[in-house]
Amino acid sequence: MEVSQRAKGILPSATLAITNKAKVLKSQGLDIIGFGAGEPDFDTPDNIKEAACTALKEGFTKYTATEGIIALRKAVADKLKSRNGLDYTIDEILISSGAKHSLFNAFMCLLNPGDEVLLPLPYWVSYEEQIRLCGAKVVAVNPETNLKITGDTIRRQKTSKTKLLVLNSPSNPTGVVYSKKELKDIGEAVLETGLGIISDEIYEDFTYDGIKAESIVGVIPKLKEHTIIINGVSKTYSMTGWRIGYAAGPQNIIKAMGNLQAHSTSNPTSFAQKAAVEALTGPQESVSLMCQAFCKRRDYIVKALNSISGIRCPNPSGAFYVFPDVSDLYGKTTPKGTLVNSSQSFASALLEEELVAVVPGEAFGTDQYVRLSYACDMATIKKGMERIEHFVKNLS
Ligand code: PMP
Ligand code: GLU
Repeated sequence: MEVSQRAKGILPSATLAITNKAKVLKSQGLDIIGFGAGEPDFDTPDNIKEAACTALKEGFTKYTATEGIIALRKAVADKLKSRNGLDYTIDEILISSGAKHSLFNAFMCLLNPGDEVLLPLPYWVSYEEQIRLCGAKVVAVNPETNLKITGDTIRRQKTSKTKLLVLNSPSNPTGVVYSKKELKDIGEAVLETGLGIISDEIYEDFTYDGIKAESIVGVIPKLKEHTIIINGVSKTYSMTGWRIGYAAGPQNIIKAMGNLQAHSTSNPTSFAQKAAVEALTGPQESVSLMCQAFCKRRDYIVKALNSISGIRCPNPSGAFYVFPDVSDLYGKTTPKGTLVNSSQSFASALLEEELVAVVPGEAFGTDQYVRLSYACDMATIKKGMERIEHFVKNLS
């Protein structure tokens, strides 16, 4: 048997690959510092786990409605209203097996072969592969200033084939958060050019310095007809393994996405849906505690990285990633004789020689950078920073 042309084109997920590699090395007894994983290190809060246990005990173990249980779709609608000021009915909401699945459903139901999608650089790894799987073309768009695009970026890049813009604020990997004004500028260009938007808002609850992440649909309500909002419980409630995400958008698109889901995964896991209802409707203290912890870690890691000569690290306003520019170090050699001349060689040498895992920026379309997730405890961060400093000092 041979794999299909379509499957041959799919690249492995660099973020998951580095996370898995670090886990394997750790299980072999190596003292690995993992800055790869894009998942909160905190445990899922007890009230959420208890809701899943109760669902299991009560026998909530069968197929549910493909599009998700009504209680969860309602909880999502209520959250969109209270958190984002948006009005969605449950027919405009689809629950899927993680936000990654929601994104895949959306691209599959919106893109025809040959369509173009504007993807601001640097972008999260799975967008590109999912878009290519639909036979559509990724148009990587350079940011203007501060790693952000503007309305004019869209006006310049739009062709007759451009169908969608992917917006991810707060961003993975840069942590940048678009302000209301910036979203308005982008939204106006979208309305002018007739594009659709995939607005991935999965990091909305992790922002710092008093900044609040806004949904572009809240800024320009007319955009509701042009936007699929993607979100989920993975990050906000530290539920990455539970696999619950959701999409909110125009009813005809959501219905098509539900039909696709009906023939691929059917419903998302029954008892995980009950847990997600508790996550969205139960106590929210755990979210602010996590956010405060991330903020302290961000402050530490940004300062520590910037104190290393040859590394420049912007201060991110959201998510739990830093994206330092390490390209000043390219051309140097490690004590073991490895030439560091790309983000890939930087990350490989750092893992091999200092046992620190980071994700090469190349995976996000920008080779000058590497990504570090600070979703790990402070002691780990401190140790990791010492090792990176040691690594850089010993380059010649
Ligand atoms: N979007 C972004 C930007 C992400 O970083 C992730 C992390 N995996 C996802 C979507 C998917 O999240 P989930 O775990 O819910 O599939
Ligand atoms: N989104 C996270 C990351 O970027 C988790 C891994 C993945 O799903 O890609 O690291």
